[in-house]
Amino acid sequence: MKIHNFNAGPSILPKEVIRKSAQSVIDFNGSGLSLLEISHRSIDFLEIIEKTTCLVKQVMNLNDDYAILFLQGGASLQFSMIPYNLMDQEAAYLDTGFWAKNAIKEARKFGKVKILFSGKNQNYTHISKHYQIPCNVDYFHCTSNNTIVGTQMKIFPKTSVPIVCDMSSDIFSRKLNFCQFSLIYASAQKNVSSAGMTIVIIKKNILGKIKRNIRNIPSYMDYKIHIQNKSILNTPNVFSIYTSMLTLEWIKNKGGLSVLEKQNQHKAKLLYNEIDNNNLFENKIHEEDRSDMNVSFFLKDKKLEKEFNKMWKKENIVGLEGHRFLGGYRASIYNALPLESVQFLIEIMKEFERRHDRK
Ligand code: PMP
Repeated sequence: MKIHNFNAGPSILPKEVIRKSAQSVIDFNGSGLSLLEISHRSIDFLEIIEKTTCLVKQVMNLNDDYAILFLQGGASLQFSMIPYNLMDQEAAYLDTGFWAKNAIKEARKFGKVKILFSGKNQNYTHISKHYQIPCNVDYFHCTSNNTIVGTQMKIFPKTSVPIVCDMSSDIFSRKLNFCQFSLIYASAQKNVSSAGMTIVIIKKNILGKIKRNIRNIPSYMDYKIHIQNKSILNTPNVFSIYTSMLTLEWIKNKGGLSVLEKQNQHKAKLLYNEIDNNNLFENKIHEEDRSDMNVSFFLKDKKLEKEFNKMWKKENIVGLEGHRFLGGYRASIYNALPLESVQFLIEIMKEFERRHDRK
């Protein structure tokens, strides 16, 4: 039975990745043991970490100035780890949605936070491009894709200040000049792998700059210690790391990020086009800020929700409900979601419109 999976996260992964990772749980590389039964310090597993690290660098075109870490605690732990390691006095943040707000809340526990832009008054439907980053802040933090409301930064500022970016919901979905970032983090459960692992990509030279001797960083919170220990300071999420390796191989075999970007843009364009032209639906995001990963939309007449929900659920579409804070609908159209699922959803929306035209 074909299921069209629009879940926001954990979410769809390539079928072949799921098949291979499931096989590794039963029998890892013909060893007679499960991936879950071998030591994270065994040569076999160290090879997996090494290979995954190389693949991240290759796919993102990053050199050895960057360290790649596979940590736990989700993107949420990064909200604290970042200021713990990087904030001396003050950092600048963009308030572009729920997750950005959470990052700001944690950062405030470590020092001063300057909000350069807040989309709050516009219900986060827009991301400003006209803000000034003060040159004396320790870093600038932004969220490249706002998973809940469905906005995405298409351009990033030029600045001498280190740029820190939460890419949890659009990592590996498009080609960017990744060298412009000093720190990128992303929890794995959207475009990459199973939940329980966070990829952190750090330009090593930004560490160790806190001047005030204000804090002794606990070991697990210290990026330098993780770099020294190559992500096995403690027992990492072996399954999620292995599955990331498989996804990165899949990305490479597809032709890399520029190929995926074109596919993702095409899927998003088709869906936004339908929302804009269908009399029953609307999208509230400023056009230039619309996300290619999370497409949010609403029925203009809320009274039709029950009927529409019944219709798409009957057609084996899953995960289309909007976030619990927002309501409406959200189609998460990550890398692994096939074009045919988007086309299928569009057909359902068209059919719903036809039904109501006839009424
Ligand atoms: N940032 C963004 C942009 C997210 O979408 C999410 C999760 N949906 C998070 C952070 C939090 O991730 P986690 O649940 O892994 O802590």
